[in-house]
Amino acid sequence: MANLNIKVTKINESKLSGLDWNNLPFGKNFSDHMFVADYINGEWTNLQIIPYQNISISPANAALHYGQSIFEGVKAYRLANGDAAIFRLEDNFKRFNRSAERLMMPKIPAEVFVEGTKQLVALDQDWIPNKENHSLYIRPFMFALDEVIGVKPSDSYKFMVLLSPTGPYYPKPMRIYVEEQYVRAVPGGVGYTKVAGNYASSLYAAKVAKDKGFDQVLWMDAIEHKYVQEMGTMNAFFIIGNKAITPGLEDGTILEGVTRNSVIQILKEMGLTVEERNLSIDEILEAYKSGELKEAFGTGTAATISRIQELVYEDFSMTFDCDKWEVSPEVTKRIDDIRYGRVDDRYNWLV
Ligand code: PMP
Repeated sequence: MANLNIKVTKINESKLSGLDWNNLPFGKNFSDHMFVADYINGEWTNLQIIPYQNISISPANAALHYGQSIFEGVKAYRLANGDAAIFRLEDNFKRFNRSAERLMMPKIPAEVFVEGTKQLVALDQDWIPNKENHSLYIRPFMFALDEVIGVKPSDSYKFMVLLSPTGPYYPKPMRIYVEEQYVRAVPGGVGYTKVAGNYASSLYAAKVAKDKGFDQVLWMDAIEHKYVQEMGTMNAFFIIGNKAITPGLEDGTILEGVTRNSVIQILKEMGLTVEERNLSIDEILEAYKSGELKEAFGTGTAATISRIQELVYEDFSMTFDCDKWEVSPEVTKRIDDIRYGRVDDRYNWLV
């Protein structure tokens, strides 16, 4: 292993005073510094924290042409006692390496991913908003660095971490339709990873959905268009009777959301039975018609929980009175209480 000391070059003058804390749209403002590391000759090297700035890459950069590019999404929170904490960083680290392996990219050691992120957040901790429902979004990513046109795994890579303060995200209940034409993921594919291309390939279906007046699509399996996968870029949950059902991870089409795992743990704590398994649209329809389908929502780091107010399958519309729901608001509350340090961190989720 190369020298893992992180060299720190600080910005001359912080940009913090120019930040409008009352207007923090997602992903638009970046903190003073960023973390950078290079993978060269089989080693991680050049670990640095430097002022946030543009980078220069070759027009023949392999990631631009062939898409070896992966990322993560994590958040840091300002705790009730004034301290700062990152939520479940270790889980994102593990998922990042699953993505790396699938794309023939080098795995990254914890000393780089976890330590680099922690040191960066510590240095820029004044960028963590001290306001209700605010957070500091953390974006680790890695891409191929080789300067070559030709389909093959790159020999060199760059890993970086950016920080972006974000305001409250109160998602209004969504209108969703069941997507039967376009697909997000296939068994044997890359659905379980956070590769950049997954997001590029989802944009068209999202646009078609928006043109039809919907907020997002419910992705279905690629073969029978019968089993639920994910909802836009969120994991899907359905509360049926006293059970919470979310698609299982076995066939590699579902991203293992960190929020998904947290929600599962909290649902169990609340006494619900959680089933991770295939869930068909027919089962959802039947549950709706019999009155057993109580709640339907998506989960993810950005919004925690986004509720569905209307789910349309072919010509049939399932509608929900989200304001009357009890389960998902309670789940959100319990997770937020941990994130903001208002209760004991009983699952050791905070770093
Ligand atoms: N599915 C997809 C496709 C996503 O992009 C995300 C967001 N990372 C999620 C699910 C939710 O994952 P997490 O809870 O880790 O944010």
